[in-house]
Amino acid sequence: MTDITPLMMDKNLINGVWVGSLSGKTIIVTNPATDDIVGTVPDMGVDETEQAIEAADKAFPMWSAMTAYERSEILEKWHDLIATNIEALALIMTLENGKPLAEARTEVSPANILWAAEEAKRIYGRIIPSNVKNRQLQAVKQPIGVAGMITPWNFPSAMITRKVGPALAAGCTVVLKPDHRTPFSALALGMLAVSAGMPKGVLNIITGDAPMIGKILTTHPKIGKISFTGSTQVGRILAEQAAPSLKKMSLELGGNAPFIVFDDVDIKETASRLATAKARNMGQSCVSPNRVYVHETIHDAFIAELLPIMAGWKVGNGTEAGVTVGPLIDSKAVEKVARLVDDAIKKGATCVLGGKAHELGRSFYSPTILTGIMPDMDISRAEIFGPVIAIQKFTDEDAVVKAANDTEFGLAAYVFTNDLGRAARVSTHLQYGQVGVNCAVISFAATPFGGIKQSGMGREGGTEGLDAYLETKYIAIQT
Ligand code: ADP
Repeated sequence: MTDITPLMMDKNLINGVWVGSLSGKTIIVTNPATDDIVGTVPDMGVDETEQAIEAADKAFPMWSAMTAYERSEILEKWHDLIATNIEALALIMTLENGKPLAEARTEVSPANILWAAEEAKRIYGRIIPSNVKNRQLQAVKQPIGVAGMITPWNFPSAMITRKVGPALAAGCTVVLKPDHRTPFSALALGMLAVSAGMPKGVLNIITGDAPMIGKILTTHPKIGKISFTGSTQVGRILAEQAAPSLKKMSLELGGNAPFIVFDDVDIKETASRLATAKARNMGQSCVSPNRVYVHETIHDAFIAELLPIMAGWKVGNGTEAGVTVGPLIDSKAVEKVARLVDDAIKKGATCVLGGKAHELGRSFYSPTILTGIMPDMDISRAEIFGPVIAIQKFTDEDAVVKAANDTEFGLAAYVFTNDLGRAARVSTHLQYGQVGVNCAVISFAATPFGGIKQSGMGREGGTEGLDAYLETKYIAIQT
């Protein structure tokens, strides 16, 4: 098996030095598939959090003054080191998060860092034709300053590289707090950043109590930007805390993605795409198909195609070959999924597959298909975050779009149809930040990811994701 010891770091990165907590306290990280202890990381307090912010603030003038080419070179080296260490990084992720190794490998692929390294050289301003003689008008882009980042456990690497890459490319410095359940992926990335020549203080990584660190990051005068991925509930708390100092914010919050299947599709192919999208990270993704609407004329045929696919999923430890679905992040996650499924069944849904915790116990939940879902069921309103497909029938295009939009969330939506006009109409009218037409795994380093309504604000990825770490300055020069 791959040797992960060179990349297993049990300390935090502050000002280029690997340190423990002042109190000596640590956080235990467990493997959700086995309950084994993966390791411990420091439980940092207020002082260490402030030290990390001070270090990032001190490094900012130097980092932002480097040329884009110099920053880009370091990011490219970081990318290369990640690429050569994919096996170890993937295994670390599987051990702490549970997702199958093959999926972890795909996530670790450092496309976000490479894209940011390339784009660092393309942060252009504008020369604007002047309204006054002998005056030059310029709009230039400058980095915001120190970026405070809070990332979740479901994508322990991609959520970091998608924030840190563009921030560093833009010239910002970073204080990152990864989730306490998946810190080793973050710390391993930090080790590789140091090896790539990241100057001290440019990237700081701290682990500890989330509300405490969140409070300091959102209120500290030396933090210019907050980027958070997590629940809408926590996003609201952070926005409230950051409001008095009007910090710039990017919030990637919850979703409730509709997946609409019209009667003109290739049923087998569509069922397969739905299953693939749902299997990602065991359904624990904010863009996972949550409410599946299938046209009534193909409903039964669609279930007939979907059932053998999901029944064939291999549930188990993500390190085992051929496993499709690993454990959920912890037993609390299983309880939440079970509550949603039980509520749906109590209110009249039919369980076609699964419908209960998996016999492997611990954090495992069985692949589940429910039909007869109604809008008043909790499962229609909440993010499922488990390997559960919840299906309802529809008959009419306008009505299904209205139903799909009837949620406070607006992150991702999917529509499957071979009618070009309908694809154009429905994708236009779906009130979501991103829409997949005949595809359901659509995130990519160069495209904007993010939501409308209560799914958040701002975008990650693409040029929008870089802009999130830049301010526009207008300079008028009388010559
Ligand atoms: P989930 O329950 O799916 O982990 P959360 O939004 O609760 O989603 O958590 C996302 C991230 O935010 C985690 O890393 C968590 O530790 C962190 N977090 C939770 N509560 C707070 C808070 N009050 N302030 C800052 N971060 C928080």
